[in-house]
Amino acid sequence: MSLLFAGVELGGTKIVCALAKADGELLERIQIDTEAPEDSLPRIKAELQNLIDIHGPFAALGIGTFGPLQLNRSASDYGRLGPTPKLLWRDCDLYRYFADWLTVPVALDTDVNAAALGEVKWGAAVACDSVVYITVGTGIGGGVVVNGQPIHGLLHPELGHMRAPRAAGDDFEGNCPVHTDCIEGMAAGPAIVARWGKQLDQLPTNHVAYAQTAHYIAHLVTNSILLLSPGKVILGGGVMSNKNLFPMIRKNVQALLNGFIAVDAIEKSIDQYIVPPGLGGNSGVLGAIVLAMTTRD
Ligand code: ZN
Repeated sequence: MSLLFAGVELGGTKIVCALAKADGELLERIQIDTEAPEDSLPRIKAELQNLIDIHGPFAALGIGTFGPLQLNRSASDYGRLGPTPKLLWRDCDLYRYFADWLTVPVALDTDVNAAALGEVKWGAAVACDSVVYITVGTGIGGGVVVNGQPIHGLLHPELGHMRAPRAAGDDFEGNCPVHTDCIEGMAAGPAIVARWGKQLDQLPTNHVAYAQTAHYIAHLVTNSILLLSPGKVILGGGVMSNKNLFPMIRKNVQALLNGFIAVDAIEKSIDQYIVPPGLGGNSGVLGAIVLAMTTRD
């Protein structure tokens, strides 16, 4: 019998629980809404128990979650959420909740580091040693995998909260509850709605909202390229499901780099360099499965 692995993707609006084989075949995938932790955590536990009842025990659990999150193994608060903008979840001790219940290893990382791992293992970045995965949705997150390992340090990358020069004529104050006009505060889904009263999909494609959103995301991608030199940049999330943004972002990135990174991936084949997730909406939860498979707990 092949080993089974459980994965949980904890997002700001939805939670995905899944069970998969070691080759990434998803046997079960359950999606629920994100509520307060006192409601959501017992619900996740019940879903996982149900998977155990149906399929038998799994070998490990991987969790990809929004952050900030303590990922230092030797810290007393390992696996606890920090000052997340999702106020109800602040200081939630995710690791302890599941590790106290399960007898199998529990591995954690950010949802975007997990998604990057998933894309390297089975998705759009299979041949890449390093990848940046950026999600643009209710927030903006960025995960980084270098030489097959997610980047950790003080905590973990938080690319979406970098700042970018303002787009021409953009006088929107910004709505990141922590930094006001960081890139998340200017270009995430809620910022678009706060600025224009509508989501991008509900605006005509020649609306300035497209150019402004592409401006901020292109700065984020360009900064990531300059800092990390990734083999691939993957853009996912609800806002990026609007495919009109991709050509605008690629063009902006080329203009911002201005011939400085003189490689074919940027200058000739950027369509294959800045790409949507190969795993579609399953990058995060399959990345959580990879976390479970690779934990050394
Ligand atoms: Zn911010």
